[in-house]
Amino acid sequence: MDSDVAQQQNCPSCGQEKERPEKPLCEYCYIRGTLGAAKFVLFQAMRDNGNQYYTVEELVELVNAHPNKKHPVKRDAVYKILHRYSSQYEYSKKRKKGYLILKKSIKRKKGQRGRPKVKYKLGANLLKRLEKYEDRWKYGLPINIRTKNGDKFRMSLNYNNRANSISIKLRKGEYELYEYLLT
Ligand SMILES: [Zn+2]
Repeated sequence: MDSDVAQQQNCPSCGQEKERPEKPLCEYCYIRGTLGAAKFVLFQAMRDNGNQYYTVEELVELVNAHPNKKHPVKRDAVYKILHRYSSQYEYSKKRKKGYLILKKSIKRKKGQRGRPKVKYKLGANLLKRLEKYEDRWKYGLPINIRTKNGDKFRMSLNYNNRANSISIKLRKGEYELYEYLLT
């Protein structure tokens, strides 16, 4: 980042003025960088590792080794996402559509104690959805359409302008595609 004081008024992600100069990014780029970012990089890690069935522990390792992951994530956080996206699995299996995350229980070998091991992989729908997330990111938009409390995320005129600037910067290759994904 440029150390020039005048430069610091501007957000390095969208190039427009920051509301608070002491923050590294503007409000919009901060929301965009965090909203849905954790699941996004987890799904990318699953797909980029061949989308095979993996246990939670294996997925924690894979996501932490992924180039888009900047800060290590713990088992709990990974499990929460997997659980949220696979809780409808039995229901959608009956309906034979709408799988998001597929789940497989592996029985322990005879003599081994403990519950069966559960493994997860992305369903075709979620693979398609992941491509949409990646397109949204390229267009300078947040990955999620909704906020954490379920409200629709509103794009103001100001936010739209910032999204446009980001997508232009990305097309020009001014910085790495996922440089401002805050994971
Ligand atoms: Zn910005």
